[in-house]
Amino acid sequence: MTDAPNYGFDTLQIHAGARPDPATGARQTPIYQTTAYVFRDAEHAAALFNLQEVGYIYSRLTNPTVAVLQERVATLEGGVGAVCCSSGHAAQIMALFPLMAPGKNVVVSTRLYGGSITQFSQTIKRFGWMAKFVDFDDMDAVEAAIDDDTRAVFCESIANPGGYITDIAAAAKLADAAGIPLIVDNTSATPYLCKPIEHGATLVVHSMTKYLTGNGTVTGGVVVDSGKFDWSASDKFPSLSAPEEAYHGLKFHETFGPLAFTFHGIAIGLRDLGMTLNPQAAHYTLMGIETLSLRMERHVQNAEKIAAWLESHDAVAGVTYAGLDSSPYKARKDAFCPKGAGGLFTIKLKAGYDACVKFVDTLELFSHVANLGDTRSLVIHSASTTHRQLTPAQQEAAGAGPDVVRISIGIEDADDLIADLDQALKAASA
Ligand SMILES: *Cc1c(COP(=O)(O)O)cnc(C)c1O
Repeated sequence: MTDAPNYGFDTLQIHAGARPDPATGARQTPIYQTTAYVFRDAEHAAALFNLQEVGYIYSRLTNPTVAVLQERVATLEGGVGAVCCSSGHAAQIMALFPLMAPGKNVVVSTRLYGGSITQFSQTIKRFGWMAKFVDFDDMDAVEAAIDDDTRAVFCESIANPGGYITDIAAAAKLADAAGIPLIVDNTSATPYLCKPIEHGATLVVHSMTKYLTGNGTVTGGVVVDSGKFDWSASDKFPSLSAPEEAYHGLKFHETFGPLAFTFHGIAIGLRDLGMTLNPQAAHYTLMGIETLSLRMERHVQNAEKIAAWLESHDAVAGVTYAGLDSSPYKARKDAFCPKGAGGLFTIKLKAGYDACVKFVDTLELFSHVANLGDTRSLVIHSASTTHRQLTPAQQEAAGAGPDVVRISIGIEDADDLIADLDQALKAASA
């Protein structure tokens, strides 16, 4: 299926990017488990290496199974192209790599997945890049943080560990005014619940490890490009607008237009950083995406029921779910995630840190793991695990204080999940 702008989400999640295998007629996308591809002749090889012809050379750069997944996610997000990577964290580096340079900075939300906070506050400094952390509820502060060396703005749609929804349109407006791209991590929402590009995002990144694959089998990431950003409007993005030595002075934006970022991601990013997704992982993720809308509907339905039940429980001091009427982010949920606020939220236990530890140890149906977005329900005490490396202030800012437990609601029977939560809350507050 190539051009089908009128199909609905449920159709696209099964068909976008895929066609019967031209060699065999195989209806399901084959796993092309190959490292290299035979050139027709020396001239064909030269054209491929010069980027004059699109095709397959070596699976560090491109692979037919991965290509189907790239086209499928790009279509679901409303982008023009996508580059898959080996993990969500790899996708974040791949998204920033063409934009940044030593001395440049990215303005990022304080409300991010714990691993992203560590990646941005510590590791990217090794590249000479810097992140400025700002509370995205204060758009004046975001605007003030953007300076002449800022090359991107970064936030999450529904922020991990849940319950917070970013005003993507307001962030996009500030990024636009500064002539820099807005990058939105859409992992917790998925394109079924939120379409960041429709609200002005330039790039969307995902950890496909979570809801896109959906069953805890794969580590993968993807960068989707809206194709809407003018990389040549200023001299801020020379990787995309200026001659590239490695390709005989080719200018990516001039040559590839709206696909410049995607081509750069493959021809430079994957070629030289090597954070490639393997075809087997792409296959699992394609299988997962076929049922994305069905799963997200059930995640939302279960989360709404369970969050409401938890909110009225004696042992619980608070529930952050943005789908609750009591949530301060209810209006943003309606604006940016009208089909629901996802399956991820946190609860605060009145009895504090020790009760949280007892709670996660007593749950039976919920697994205590460092993952989310699985068909099965998961739980984690962020302060003692994923957010452990953060300072207490960073933990609080990220919504992961010592008395907070993060819950990823699966697609099991909601009443069974409620019964399990009930017995564990009783044990924890005894
Ligand atoms: C898990 C996660 C990541 C990192 O993804 P990996 O696939 O684990 O590298 C990034 N952002 C969010 C919101 C996540 O939940």
